[in-house]
Amino acid sequence: DIKVEALNKYFGETHVLKDINLEIRAGETFSIIGPSGTGKSVLLKHIVKLESPDSGQIFVDGIPIFGEKKTSARDYRYSMVFQSSALFNSLTVGENVGLWLREKRVCKEQRIREIIREKLDMVGLAGKEDLKTSELSGGMKKRVAIARSLAMNPDLILYDEPTAELDPVTTDELANTILKLKETTRNTTVIVTHDLNFALYISDRIAMMHGGTIVEVGTPAEIKRSQNPIVRGFIYTTT
Ligand code: ATP
Ligand code: MG
Repeated sequence: DIKVEALNKYFGETHVLKDINLEIRAGETFSIIGPSGTGKSVLLKHIVKLESPDSGQIFVDGIPIFGEKKTSARDYRYSMVFQSSALFNSLTVGENVGLWLREKRVCKEQRIREIIREKLDMVGLAGKEDLKTSELSGGMKKRVAIARSLAMNPDLILYDEPTAELDPVTTDELANTILKLKETTRNTTVIVTHDLNFALYISDRIAMMHGGTIVEVGTPAEIKRSQNPIVRGFIYTTT
């Protein structure tokens, strides 16, 4: 599991993360929702060590990930699906998915091809390895980005605004893909999104962030009946 403890982050004078405490259980799908500029992406970046806190700590399976002693942090495997998908347009779908495997020479070429096939199949893109990435729709690009993340066989997969550029139909398809993946992989999944309905549909638990703090954590049912005025306001403005 991932335990965020008393995490604080400043950018200059701005207190962006204010004493964040959070526990994400192994294997759960956990969403972080909240309005723009509340620190959701910054929190996500701390979990994958793209940012470091001014105070506080994050523990992965009990081991602190920040600190001088490099050896103390287990090399835990995480993979982030960025909002932009961040694919190489000059490469094919299969080449994008296999990029990391080939770069790190994790296994033989034949096995790499198998993995590419398997991961594309998992996101509903079976047989699409030779397509040009530049010719894909936004929803398909997102799936390729997910397949590429899965190829790294991560313990933890993170999504920053996965539905940001998608239309409602594509958003539903993506939600179902993520739900289906949950049945086949045992990944812990962390999702940052503005999209409350998406979060309610796919999450085991949801944290509502506001002004750099976590104002509520609960199951979708608990969030829906929350009496917290900030949560109510967010439900009201987005549904
Ligand atoms: P959105 O929903 O729009 O993506 P967010 O909740 O993800 O918003 P963050 O990107 O986490 O918001 O940003 C929180 C605050 O921190 C914002 O005020 C932002 O301007 C500021 N911020 C984020 N990254 C940096 C940085 N590298 N340097 C300075 N300020 C930053
Ligand atoms: Mg963000």
